[in-house]
Amino acid sequence: MQKLFNCVVYLHDPILLACAVLILLVGSIVTMRLFSRARHTKNDIQRLWLILAGMIGGGTIWSTHFVAMLAYKSDLILGYDLTLTITSLIIVVCSTMLGFAIASLKTNSLLIELGGAVLGFGVSMMHYTGMAAMKIQGGVQWDAATVVASVLLGAFIGIACVSITARKFTKYYNLWGALVFVVAVALMHFTSMSGLTLVPANMSIEVEKLISNTALGSGIIVLMGCLYLTTFITSMIDMKNESATSEHYKYLALHDPLTGIPNRHGCEKYLKDFILAPLPENRGVAIVGIDLDRFKSINDVHGHAAGDHLLKTISSHVSQILQPGEMIGRFGGDEFVALKSNIGGKDDASEFAERILKAIRQPVMWNDADISTRASLGFSMFPWDSENPIQLLEQADLAMYYAKSNGKDCVVGYNKAMDSENRERTTLATALASAIENEELSVHYQLQNDAQTRKITGVEALLRWHNPARGNITPDVFIPIAEETGFINELGTWVLREACTQASQWRMPIKVAVNVAAKQLADPFFADTVKTVLEETGLEPSRLELEVTESGIIGDASQALKVIRKLKEIGVQIAMDDYGTGYSTLATLHNFPFDKIKIDREFIKDIDQNEHSAAILKSTMILGNSLKIPVLAEGVETEAHLAALSTEGCQLVQGFLFGKPMPNNMFEELLTQQISAGLWDDYIEAEADTNVVPLKAMA
Ligand code: C2E
Ligand code: CA
Ligand code: CA
Repeated sequence: MQKLFNCVVYLHDPILLACAVLILLVGSIVTMRLFSRARHTKNDIQRLWLILAGMIGGGTIWSTHFVAMLAYKSDLILGYDLTLTITSLIIVVCSTMLGFAIASLKTNSLLIELGGAVLGFGVSMMHYTGMAAMKIQGGVQWDAATVVASVLLGAFIGIACVSITARKFTKYYNLWGALVFVVAVALMHFTSMSGLTLVPANMSIEVEKLISNTALGSGIIVLMGCLYLTTFITSMIDMKNESATSEHYKYLALHDPLTGIPNRHGCEKYLKDFILAPLPENRGVAIVGIDLDRFKSINDVHGHAAGDHLLKTISSHVSQILQPGEMIGRFGGDEFVALKSNIGGKDDASEFAERILKAIRQPVMWNDADISTRASLGFSMFPWDSENPIQLLEQADLAMYYAKSNGKDCVVGYNKAMDSENRERTTLATALASAIENEELSVHYQLQNDAQTRKITGVEALLRWHNPARGNITPDVFIPIAEETGFINELGTWVLREACTQASQWRMPIKVAVNVAAKQLADPFFADTVKTVLEETGLEPSRLELEVTESGIIGDASQALKVIRKLKEIGVQIAMDDYGTGYSTLATLHNFPFDKIKIDREFIKDIDQNEHSAAILKSTMILGNSLKIPVLAEGVETEAHLAALSTEGCQLVQGFLFGKPMPNNMFEELLTQQISAGLWDDYIEAEADTNVVPLKAMA
């Protein structure tokens, strides 16, 4: 220890020694950072970082050694052999590179320590090769024990510095690793030097072939200069790359890849920014929830590529009409959200939403087909409706939902009453879920009659819900809720089973029509369910008619057609319900094998006064006649209605004129009365004659 102290303090020039320490300190910090960087990258990039770490690390060790040698006070040193000096540099650069490479092979393994040992031995190899390059006027004597100690010390501390950096033992692992690196190189060097004795002797040495101290010093400055410049440039490029990459990832995280507009996270971020930004007094932010109408059917009919095209085009149409302080983002699927900052109140919010709706309505073409759509928009306003961003989005969503149920293609602003209505809907949905089990449901029957003879041709089954707490709840209220919650499938099957069971017990084989919701028709097993119910209840399939609406078909036309064909195979009849209210295309009537068209009561109620209604009836009659499909008019309330319908040639009618929907027992009673009054004699006689049920006579 004393020898080591004497060696450092008395045998070295302090200024040059300080230079050596400085080179070592700076070099170690840079080297360990580069090594760390290499461990956090992979493949080619990792190799590049390892090469750089090896070059800087090796260069640092080599420069430190030779600057320390320049600091070593001895008149005997004549200069340095060129080949051995360069060899020592190559050795240390390669061994440092190798050590770091081994230590970077695995995240957590003893290879880290092996790499450290290679690095430490590399330092020793360089040192003794460098010492061999030194030419003196005399000979050199080494103390064997000190040499062994220096090599082992170098190796151990090499292991420590690599291990600290790779295993991140402390928070400032890079710095600690660098410090231990400094200790490793310095201890190795000075321990070895303390065991060195220069023995003067007269020898002939060609001094001209040696590198002089000045040349060595200049060489070190040039080498380190080049290495640091390379590292600096590389690090700058790396930093720029990294920030560009992180910008790119940030962009991806906040934007929708399909449309390029902000995604859900992006919208939420915008909303927070808009809300937090300082606004003048009485100014706020509009939050608009947007849901495209008919998107699913466009996807189903024209394919997903058309759906994507529609979403992209709409995003671009809306983006084009945005003004400063406005944005649009896609929340997912066909749901969008738009924001407008600095609004003065409802009028501004409405104007903004209407402007978006107008942009959405613009024509969109796909393979010559018009796939334009409409949308339902709802808006809420900060700070008037809420100051909480999540709540504001929910309110906009709720208002949008109202726009959807208000007939779509419109804008609705949020108001507080919607909350309680929404809560009411949720409570109703919960109560409905247990209505079957609690026996709160029943099926009523409404007559369908021949317009001329007024005889019963069938009945329509209509669901009724009596809740002990709320009284009677009409189907117009609870059917949409059941459709929304998906409970409609279970409910529909219950009605079907109930109607078939009761119909199978009627004294006359009267046809029963059961309503089928869109979701039921979308169920691929629906036809199987119908078949099972018919088998279990024993009802003749030809006595069952299923009423489907156009909205039930349009969603997934090919699926609906498949189910309807299966139903027809079973022998069930299909009626088109609410005709005239939906898309009412000729194509639908043509493509689907309907057995009946039910013209909606909307067109019957003012048939004798309204020309438009009369025209719809007329055209439906012409259509029915040409397609040979009977037409039934719903909502026949007066004799005047009946007369107008008869004039147009409509043969089947249903409405309050003939009776309101009634419970099963009342219908059975009515049937008994009619039988007693002889109204069914024709049928009873025919049955007695043939002993076969002449079902056709009932249609
Ligand atoms: P809908 O299929 O069009 O049923 C006919 C509706 O018109 C019934 O209303 C009936 O009471 C009413 N109605 C019949 N005649 C007249 C009339 O002369 N004047 C007026 N103003 N109305 C008349 P209800 O029973 O309230 O049913 C409403 C709707 O609820 C039904 O319309 C149907 O869409 C749905 N619905 C009812 N039961 C079921 C069911 O079991 N399943 C499904 N999916 N929907 C059902
Ligand atoms: Ca119906
Ligand atoms: Ca109807």
